[in-house]
Order: sequence, then structure tokens, then C-alpha cells
Amino acid sequence: MKETPKAVIVGAGISGLVCAIALQRQNISVRVLEQADTLAPVGAGLSLWPNALHALGALGLSDAVTAAGARLRRGEIRQADGRVLSSMDTAGLAARTGMPCVMIHRAALHGLLLQALAPDTVSTGQTAESVVAAGGEGTPARLRLHSGEELEADILIAADGANSRIRRQLWPASDLVYRGYTAWRGIVRAPHSARLGESGESWGRGCRFGWSAVDHERIYWFATANQPAGETVGGEARLSRLQTLFGDWHAPIPTLLEATPAEDILQNDIHDLPPLASWHRGRTVLLGDAAHPTTPNLGQGACMGIESALVLARQLDRHTSPEAAFKAFFQQRHKRVTGVMLQSRRIGAAGQWSSPAACWLRNRLASVIPSRLSEWQLDRLVQGFTLP
Ligand SMILES: Cc1cc2nc3c(=O)[nH]c(=O)nc-3n(C[C@H](O)[C@H](O)[C@H](O)COP(=O)(O)OP(=O)(O)OC[C@H]3O[C@@H](n4cnc5c(N)ncnc54)[C@H](O)[C@@H]3O)c2cc1C
Repeated sequence: MKETPKAVIVGAGISGLVCAIALQRQNISVRVLEQADTLAPVGAGLSLWPNALHALGALGLSDAVTAAGARLRRGEIRQADGRVLSSMDTAGLAARTGMPCVMIHRAALHGLLLQALAPDTVSTGQTAESVVAAGGEGTPARLRLHSGEELEADILIAADGANSRIRRQLWPASDLVYRGYTAWRGIVRAPHSARLGESGESWGRGCRFGWSAVDHERIYWFATANQPAGETVGGEARLSRLQTLFGDWHAPIPTLLEATPAEDILQNDIHDLPPLASWHRGRTVLLGDAAHPTTPNLGQGACMGIESALVLARQLDRHTSPEAAFKAFFQQRHKRVTGVMLQSRRIGAAGQWSSPAACWLRNRLASVIPSRLSEWQLDRLVQGFTLP
């Protein structure tokens, strides 16, 4: 009888967990190693577009994810003074694509993914240190953990995020590129002006602010600003910096900031990665942000990870050798994720323009371009994923 392959996934983020669920449904034995000591309910909000919902639907998870979040009906772009520049009918997009656009708390999504796994699939407090052998030609991959333990895997999947230690070891020239701005995120437990199903993003000079409800009780917000890489302050100083940047913007922005506990505000510098020429070495493959980190301007980074996770699992089902599956996975995914990454980078660059003339032109264009055109572009992006 043919032995079932054993897969080890490094990283219990969204990509790693979706891949683990898909592999278990294919009767592949999976172990997920996570460096964090506990799987705490952390993070902020996440937009999941219909493409990601289609992929989750293939695993029977789209209804539960939709129920745990808020269906987006419309989104508006505004100026800092509140003047509406454009609006987007996301309910129409959902009707055309057959799946909703969902805003969800990251922890709620994470919880649903963990529930869909067999018990004890994820081992916490397990940090992958290095790949001792990438494997290949019939030999397994070997992974060394921080504890000194070594593990063998027929399939080794590095889903260890944008800063992937495994990617940096096996692709030494794969440094992230800082895109010139940082992002803050927060969750406010005080339902007031932002209504369920509506989202907004407002543009200033070199900074932006966006928000959306993630459920009946909580509103998620994000903010961006141009600044040198690595510049950060914590606690009350972080909140004060945001109030200096956005305190005189239109409602409900100042109120949202005021209602956010300073210690809960997250900050991440925004990076992406020049596209890699391959995602595997022998029996070791990169997945999600480890392979294709994307700036957050389209709200598609995790969506791309979810799509990729499903495609990787399906390719492993179709091919007898992991190497052949990894090649097919790369061929199927590379063009799609590179296109999304570049589009997101361009949108972010324009969103962060700071010269008054450039910002005036950008806002003017946003207000005259018919919303049907933006919706058509979004349709194309969302429909660019078909189930494998
Ligand atoms: C400001 C901001 C807003 C965003 N908004 C959206 C959005 O609205 N919609 C969207 O689709 N995407 C969004 N994204 C992108 C999204 O967050 C990422 O694409 C997604 O989280 C990537 O998931 P992942 O599982 O690939 O990696 P990660 O979420 O980074 O998970 C990697 C996991 O691996 C673990 N790990 C790392 N190293 C090791 C190791 N050596 N050993 C063991 N474990 C390890 C980590 O602890 C972590 O749990 C946003 C990103 C940012 C920065």
C-alpha cells in the first residue's frame, strides 16, 4: 500500500492554516509548527474579497466566515475634509461574483480555521531555525527547530510570513523592500457612526485613514503615513502621533482614534518583495506572504495566501512527486500574485503622494472616473481566480 506523505507547515497564520485544512481533506498527514507560545486572539480587521470566499467555499468554510464578519455593501473614498470623491457598490460585486465581500476580525477568521483542523494539528512554541536539507529525488526535507530537535518531512511548506526565515535562508537575495510608509491599525469597541456594511477611506497628503465595521460591536480602522523605515513610538505617544496627523479630519475619524486604547494600536512598516523566479527548492516550498508579500492597498494579501494555499494542496493531490506539484503551483500562481502585488504597490504609491499638485490631480481623477470603471477593474481582479 502507498504510504501517505507527511507534510510539515511552518507558520500557523492564515495561509498555513488554510493549506493544512485542505491537505487534511485530501488525507495527507499534516503538522503545523508555530513559534508563538499560544494562539492568542490578536490582530485587527481584514477584508476578504469574493475570490478568497470562493477558495474558502471549496473547503466548506465560506458561510461560517461570512456569518462571523460583516458583508460589505459599499465603500467610499473621501478627502480629509469629508468630501466624497467616489463610491463603490460592493454589494453589486458580490451579486456578480456569487460571493460576498466580508470584513472580519482576524482573530475570528483564525478561530474558525483552527476549528476546521483535526485536534492537535498545530504545535505552538515551535520555532523553525533552519532547513538542514531541502530534500528532493526521493529524500525528505529536514528541518531544525530552535530547540535543537530535527524533523523530516516529505513536503515542507514555509508559511512563515513576509519575513520568512526559510525564504531568507534558501533565497539569500530575497530582502523585503520598504515602500516608504507605515501603517497603524486599531479596533474600537464602541459602535456608533460607521454602519455595518459600509467602509470608507480618506486621502490626505502623504497619509490615509480608513475604517469599516467588522461585526455589530466593533469598528476596524487603519491609517498610513510616509516616514523613514523603522520609526516607531509606543503607547500614548503612538496615539498622539495619530491625533496630530488625523485629529482635524472629518467625522468619525477623531472619535475613532479617541476611543482606541493606545496600547492596542498595531504598527507595521509596509513592504513587498520583487517577484521570485521560483518558490521551491527540492521538497521545500514557500506559501503566502513568505512567497508573495503584498502591500495592503487592495486588501488582498491574505486573500492571495488563501488562494495559494488551496492551489498548492490541489496540486499536491494531482502529482505524485512534490517537486512536480510545486512547479505546477508556481506556474498557476505566479502571474496572478505578481499582478496583484504590482497593482497594490501602484495604488499605495499614489495614495501616499504628498505634493499639493499631485494630490489635487489624484483627487480630481478619483472624482471624475466613473465608478463603473473601478468596479470593472475590481471584477477583473476578483474573477482572476478560478477554483483549481
Ligand atoms: C496594515 C495591513 C493591513 C492588511 N489588510 C489586509 C486585508 O484587509 N485583507 C487581506 O487579505 N490582507 C491584508 N493584509 C495582508 C495580510 O495580513 C497578510 O497577507 C497575511 O496575514 C499573510 O498570512 P500568512 O499566513 O502568509 O503570514 P503571517 O500572517 O505572517 O503568518 C506567519 C506565521 O508564521 C509564524 N512564524 C514565523 N516565523 C516562524 C518560525 N521561524 N517558526 C515557526 N513559526 C513561525 C508567525 O508567528 C505567524 O503565525 C494586511 C497587511 C497589513 C500589514
